[in-house]
Amino acid sequence: MSAVWTCHLSCFNCDKPFLVNGVSAEEIREAQGVFRCPHCDAMPAGGSRHSLVYLHAVNLPFRKPWRGDLWHYSEYCSGWPVDNYLEIEFPPADEVCPECCALVGVFKFGSAPAVTAKL
Ligand SMILES: [Zn+2]
Ligand SMILES: [Zn+2]
Repeated sequence: MSAVWTCHLSCFNCDKPFLVNGVSAEEIREAQGVFRCPHCDAMPAGGSRHSLVYLHAVNLPFRKPWRGDLWHYSEYCSGWPVDNYLEIEFPPADEVCPECCALVGVFKFGSAPAVTAKL
C-alpha cells in the first residue's frame, strides 16, 4: 500500500492554514495549485500556489498500548508498543505521544479546515 498524505497548506493569498486530505505522493505538487482556499476563496492561478507547510502520512499505523493513554506513531519512540497494542490506520482523536511529536513533527490534525482531494 502506498502512503496517503494529508497536506498542510498555507494560502498564498491570506496565509491561513488548511488541510487537503487523501493525496498520493505524486499529487502533492498538484494539490498546491488546484484547491480554492476555504478561508478567503482564493484560487491559485498563474505563478501563485499555496505553500506546503508540512505533510502527514495518514495511513501509517498509530499504536496504543492496551494499558496506555497515548497513541504513538513513530517506531523510533521509546514508548512504541511491540506487543499488546491496539493499531489503527487513521489519526486518532485522543492524545498522541509528545515524544513521537518531537520525532516526527507536531501532529495537529483537525486544527484547520480540510478539503478532500479528488484529483
Ligand atoms: Zn486564503
Ligand atoms: Zn511515542
